[in-house]
Amino acid sequence: MANSWRHERWDSLRLLTPNWQSRLPGHHYDGPDPDGYMTMAEVIEFISRFAIVAAAPVRARTNVTSVKRVDQGYQVETNEGQIRCRCVVIASGACNLPSVPALRSSVPASIDQLTPFDYRNPASLPDGGVLIVGASATGVQLAAEIHRSGRPVTLSVGEHVRLPRIYRGRDVLWWMDHAGLWDQRYDQLEDITRARRLPSPQLVGTPDRATLDLNALSALGVELVGRLSAVRDGRALFSGGLRHLFSLADLKLERLLDTFDEWAVTAGSDHRVDAPERFEPTRVPASPPTQMDLRSGRIRSIVWATGFRPDYHWLDVPVLDEKGQLRHDGGVVAAPGIYALGLPVLRRRKSTFIHGVEDDARELVGHLGSYLAQRGHRL
Ligand SMILES: Cc1cc2nc3c(=O)[nH]c(=O)nc-3n(C[C@H](O)[C@H](O)[C@H](O)COP(=O)(O)OP(=O)(O)OC[C@H]3O[C@@H](n4cnc5c(N)ncnc54)[C@H](O)[C@@H]3O)c2cc1C
Repeated sequence: MANSWRHERWDSLRLLTPNWQSRLPGHHYDGPDPDGYMTMAEVIEFISRFAIVAAAPVRARTNVTSVKRVDQGYQVETNEGQIRCRCVVIASGACNLPSVPALRSSVPASIDQLTPFDYRNPASLPDGGVLIVGASATGVQLAAEIHRSGRPVTLSVGEHVRLPRIYRGRDVLWWMDHAGLWDQRYDQLEDITRARRLPSPQLVGTPDRATLDLNALSALGVELVGRLSAVRDGRALFSGGLRHLFSLADLKLERLLDTFDEWAVTAGSDHRVDAPERFEPTRVPASPPTQMDLRSGRIRSIVWATGFRPDYHWLDVPVLDEKGQLRHDGGVVAAPGIYALGLPVLRRRKSTFIHGVEDDARELVGHLGSYLAQRGHRL
């Protein structure tokens, strides 16, 4: 139970969503620190308690190895035996495997390469310089932690989502919640493909509620370079254009803050929060290197913080697209009686977060109930 939180996360990780937002159907955080951020041990405890509250027949340590269509339903093979069922809800997560670009194979053998699944704490790394590729939630968090361990960090930055931790005295996710952004529906978004590919925000959940954007990282001494575009003859090549990337992220942040401010006025909440504020634009380094010799000894390890992907190798039903993603419409998968939950913007912007599953699940269970009823069965 809570397998990915137990085995696939680094030691210092805390949720970036505040405690008040950790809620599942009939179960929510009720501790003394609603504005804090759960440690992994607390997340495991939270999910384990939910299993008791929900009283669902949980089968722990049971790996599904195959799902096949048979007669009127599905045959599910597991390491604990077979299950026959009419419907399957795929809630196996969007982050089962690290997503690492193919250019990793061109990295010289003298460099250690790690993904967030291998990394536990800075001691997982050799001494010496570290190149972190990817500057979304994972990349910025690991950059700060590894830099503080005394290892010089270079952070390769691609498209990213900049957010302050606190805006006008409230958690930025409080604003997202109240202004209705989390609830935006998948069928009302202009570009759902893009929304589903959006990188995670540059956020960290720490007791001091600090902002961890690129300005904070460069103030710590982390070196910022452009997107890693190739590794050739032992040299890492970085794209130029950091200025453009930064101003795009700054512009999007400005627009988001405008949306929050407008909401505060129209909702009559302007007096409940501090005055509007704006943040310093992301500082562009004077002359960021566009290449780096990976054989010089300066960089001893690379951490690929380049995202995660789902793993459906066990699904023997033809419902994946050419990129290996599940074909579905708001969680109704392209095969009779199969549903999905917990994928990015499945039905709403919040779908892949802990607090996002409840609304999606309610709607999909409604669909599943009608599917069964049409076939003369009950839920
Ligand atoms: C680094 C990181 C940080 C995150 N931080 C936050 C955060 O701060 N707040 C937040 O709300 N969300 C966060 N998330 C998102 C969160 O992990 C999940 O996306 C969210 O909890 C959705 O839950 P889920 O149960 O759908 O998926 P998951 O939590 O991924 O759970 C899926 C489960 O299915 C199991 N599974 C997979 N394949 C099989 C199989 N074949 N047989 C049996 N079991 C299988 C996995 O082992 C896992 O236990 C984070 C994710 C990552 C990777």
